[in-house]
Amino acid sequence: MPLTLPFDNTYARLPGRFFSHQAPTPVAAPELIALNEALATSLGLDPSTLASADGVATLSGSIVPEGATPIAQAYAGHQFGGWVPQLGDGRAVLLGEVVAPDGRRMDLQLKGAGRTPYSRSGDGRAWIGPVIREYLVSEAMHAMGVPTTRALAAVATGETVLREAALPGAVLARVAASHVRVGTFQYLYARQDIDGLRALADHVIARHYPDADDAFGLLEAVIDAQARLIASWMGLGFIHGVMNTDNVSVAGETIDYGPCAFMDGYHPETVFSSIDRFGRYAYARQPEIAVWNLAQFATALLPLMGERDAAIERATDLVNDFGARFQRCWLDVFRGKLGLSEAKEEDEALIQELLTLMAQDRADFTKVFRGLADGTAGDWITDRPSFDAWAVRWADRLAKEPIDPVARRSLMARRNPAVIPRNHHVEAAIAAAVAGDTSLFRDLHRATADPFTDHPVFGTPPAAGEEVTATFCGT
Ligand code: AMP
Ligand code: MG
Repeated sequence: MPLTLPFDNTYARLPGRFFSHQAPTPVAAPELIALNEALATSLGLDPSTLASADGVATLSGSIVPEGATPIAQAYAGHQFGGWVPQLGDGRAVLLGEVVAPDGRRMDLQLKGAGRTPYSRSGDGRAWIGPVIREYLVSEAMHAMGVPTTRALAAVATGETVLREAALPGAVLARVAASHVRVGTFQYLYARQDIDGLRALADHVIARHYPDADDAFGLLEAVIDAQARLIASWMGLGFIHGVMNTDNVSVAGETIDYGPCAFMDGYHPETVFSSIDRFGRYAYARQPEIAVWNLAQFATALLPLMGERDAAIERATDLVNDFGARFQRCWLDVFRGKLGLSEAKEEDEALIQELLTLMAQDRADFTKVFRGLADGTAGDWITDRPSFDAWAVRWADRLAKEPIDPVARRSLMARRNPAVIPRNHHVEAAIAAAVAGDTSLFRDLHRATADPFTDHPVFGTPPAAGEEVTATFCGT
């Protein structure tokens, strides 16, 4: 029997040009891999109902719940800088917007839910690897305080998906503030659908940025949200890997965990994605790529901004201001990591000097920062005399701080995770799951969802030979 969920589907009520009505395709034998009970409860959904046979059938797309308006969203985008006029949800179906008891409105989307009008040559399905990866990484990001889409459930489909090999299929039930992307605006702009653009902008303003008065206000709010988001990625050594405009959420959440990865050893030019041959989306390039993406967003909003020349000038100023905004956020993030509660002129140099030392021999990003609080950071850096000299300058700076050592330790403990989803552990969890054992995934999830508590196994960097240096989109 279909469940009844508290839906109110404002996006699906927009004019029909934004999406196609599309029910998810039922799966052979849905079986729950993981259910996020805390998230379910916060959304006003009963975990035991979701874990029931009807619930699991719902989370896999085999039954459409009451109140849903299943659609596949249309969008376009620049992929690695090249324009693609039509992308869209090729393997995802948006069931609708759940209105939580606290009034929050969250999209409930099934990823891997079967073919849609936007599937092109794809099969519309996902294998268990990307589902597990997104479950682990998005929930870790949330636990570390980074805005992100969430994982509500992972369900095995009992079907086989053909990739390089025959692999077990799965569906991810994903929750997001919305799934509107920069590419959604680009889709309408490219078609010169000005009424559509206006309706979409109004929708996004009402939903995410009620203080924005007009398209300029919307642009500024999205720029601000991206500056905060990318700065929080940088503070964790996170590399998104596919910052295409179709993977940029206008709500400012991290979205689409493809070949993403956390660095083990720090180097600013680190790239993981096997398809990113020129390092377009390398760690240190993420802020400038964000500017590029935001310039595309600004362009798509131009028809809503009045007289063109004046609009271009004002929008350009806003986009160019990203750098200064980002720098403020970045300093905030790294000051916190160093236990600094106040801003001083000298802080940027202090942070940069540490990063330069770390880059010299690819010191473990997570271990160095975590180790600052307990005196073990230097153990991870080969050039010990230089680190010790840096530590003296850091101690001088700390002496000018108003907060006491106890407050400082607590600040640093909250800003420097002990456990991140390290690539070698994620890959091992995926390999085990493909072989039918999801216990490693479960253990890794438990550890990474509690990232500020040390863990004897999952807190350790890869040993020589264990390091993962390339990741794959692996759809
Ligand atoms: P991504 O690179 O993961 O952001 O995906 C880019 C585009 O390819 C999106 O439009 C996806 O919906 C589509 N896509 C990826 N994998 C599949 C698949 N297995 N079947 C259909 N479409 C897909
Ligand atoms: Mg995508």
